[in-house]
Amino acid sequence: MRTITLINGDGIGPEISKSVVEIIKASGLDIDWDIQTAGEDVIETEGVPLPNRVLDSIKKNKIALKAPVTTPIGKGFRSVNVQLRKDLDLYANLRPCKNLPGVATRFDNVDLVVVRENTEDLYAGVEEQIDENTAHSIKIITRKASERICKFAFDYAVKNDRHEVCVVTKANIMKLSDGLFLDTFRQVAQNYPQIKTREILVDNLCMQLVQDPTRFDVLVLPNLYGDIVSDLTAGLIGGLGVAQGANIGLECAVFEPVHGSAPDIKGQNKANPTALLLSAIEMLKYIGENVYADKIEKALFKTLADGNKTADLGGSLSTTEFTAKIIANLG
Ligand code: ATP
Repeated sequence: MRTITLINGDGIGPEISKSVVEIIKASGLDIDWDIQTAGEDVIETEGVPLPNRVLDSIKKNKIALKAPVTTPIGKGFRSVNVQLRKDLDLYANLRPCKNLPGVATRFDNVDLVVVRENTEDLYAGVEEQIDENTAHSIKIITRKASERICKFAFDYAVKNDRHEVCVVTKANIMKLSDGLFLDTFRQVAQNYPQIKTREILVDNLCMQLVQDPTRFDVLVLPNLYGDIVSDLTAGLIGGLGVAQGANIGLECAVFEPVHGSAPDIKGQNKANPTALLLSAIEMLKYIGENVYADKIEKALFKTLADGNKTADLGGSLSTTEFTAKIIANLG
């Protein structure tokens, strides 16, 4: 039986994790979940929001499913998400964004993939307070990190029968840092003559995405633009409740939804488990459990297509009712 690390998270994390674990179990796939707590709740007992045992578990099992984890603001702790990605060198953040059956949105036929660099840029955490009225945050872009994320985007395009990779920067203003990312993209692109390339500035991309997202295929972006643009693209397909993601490195991969811990609806049995479930489906495909991944995906799509929805999608089903419908559709 495959052992997979499960981080239940906090906020709505435990509710949506429970739903996903139940659905996977009901599909007939046995997984030995190595449950690891992290976040706000463990600070009291263990002193830090991301104890080493969590990292050790992921290093051992190589794969993790992670619900959102809150990092308390202003208490001096680095973001759990950022630390996890950095310590495990999960350099590629993959956020596929595709219309779902039964979820009406402004545009049909949205099918794009955001590939976000995950380890540097303004997320490097290099900040300094110059004086009371001035703070600096350093944007770090290296050729090494840019090269591997661009290569990841092109390899993904080749493997998944995609036709174009578009690089997103603000290289007209940040000529050195974004300029380096763009220059590296151009060099990497030369090894993939079969894939079309496009270059766009991030502000123009945002405008074009809201005008017609079907113009885009694979997008590759430095960390901060990737974060912002992937929330925008989540909105194109129905919002954060349905936006999946994965953080992939050479050794390990952590699958997690785009959304945060949604404290505003915590414990109310209202959360949509779809984003975590889609992330889990990708995880199952990643480990070669395609039969179960397809079975669960079919059940989810049928459930949504039949008009079953949680409140974030305009429906009235609770998390547990929605989960039960998916399980019933597993056949
Ligand atoms: P973070 O900075 O940690 O990413 P955030 O500020 O983007 O968090 P979220 O926690 O993602 O915020 O929540 C943003 C909004 O989306 C909230 O109103 C929340 O209730 C809603 N939301 C997020 N995820 C879900 C979900 N799975 N189901 C229903 N609503 C959700």
